[in-house]
Amino acid sequence: MQLLDGKLISSQIKAEIKTEVDYWTSKGGKKPHLAAILVGNDGASETYVASKIRSCEEIGFTSTLLRFDSDVTEAELLGAVEQLNNDPDVDGFIVQLPLPKHITENTIMEAVHPAKDVDGFHPINVGRMCKGLPAYLSATPFGIIEMLKRADIETAGKHCVVIGRSQIVGLPMSILMQRNTYPGNCTVTICHSKTQNLKEICKSADILIVALGRPEFVTAEYVKEGAVVIDVGISRVPDASKKSGFAIKGDVNFQNVAPKASFITPVPGGVGLMTICGLLTNTLMAARKEIYK
Ligand code: NAD
Repeated sequence: MQLLDGKLISSQIKAEIKTEVDYWTSKGGKKPHLAAILVGNDGASETYVASKIRSCEEIGFTSTLLRFDSDVTEAELLGAVEQLNNDPDVDGFIVQLPLPKHITENTIMEAVHPAKDVDGFHPINVGRMCKGLPAYLSATPFGIIEMLKRADIETAGKHCVVIGRSQIVGLPMSILMQRNTYPGNCTVTICHSKTQNLKEICKSADILIVALGRPEFVTAEYVKEGAVVIDVGISRVPDASKKSGFAIKGDVNFQNVAPKASFITPVPGGVGLMTICGLLTNTLMAARKEIYK
């Protein structure tokens, strides 16, 4: 078993981006600028946004955080999105999900200008991705693709099973894995909450990508000997032995599955760090106007 070390790979990617930013700014270019909108005080969202901002500092990006109380109206939030759309200094921005129930996430996502949509959630970016056109790829699937590439994992002709069909992970992941490119060219099966015979389907996977949000759901019985296992899940489970009172768990039972896998991502220290790299890479592309002129 080989560990797909998100810590190591993400630090290499961040160092590469920093070198590019340093070179660019030394020539008089503007620092790439990533902004984030955070609504409410959800602990996990706070952690994710703080880590994105810290990464910006490490690699020489400018970052801005706009905070709103959880009773913010949709109109107020749309106003903030419009402000960032029109701010020439901001290259890209994200709206940290989930949003409170009274706000329609799709309405907010569609209001973000596609050229600044560095999370890759806007229908134009999703549509361009589906057509194989240059687009900001959804940050988590983008990070996973980069991880597979850097670990030189063979994908052509393999059976890739994706558990989860969410707009931000499962669905774009399945599209990227079937594209006629590397990594890609897989035969993809997408599974969800209504899938029957989930275990049998997973057992036929050469590459198993798990994103359902249920801690340690996937055990060795779901995994073929030698499979590549990518664990997207991040759940907080109560743990009295931790200072925080909780432990972070993936969707895969690591101890149980690792001996069967050829490659496996740990949680924490796996896909989460790669997601940030996807976001930073998209922001660099936005600053250089590589996709939208
Ligand atoms: P979601 O809740 O939007 O989607 C979950 C999907 O799992 C759904 O499509 C559902 O049909 C499927 N599902 C639920 N129960 C199932 C079952 N018993 N069998 C088969 N399929 C089932 O979740 P999401 O936003 O895609 O996130 C999934 C997990 O990934 C969560 O733990 C989330 O915290 C984590 N996540 C991690 C990152 C990261 O950077 N590592 C990024 C995004 C999400």
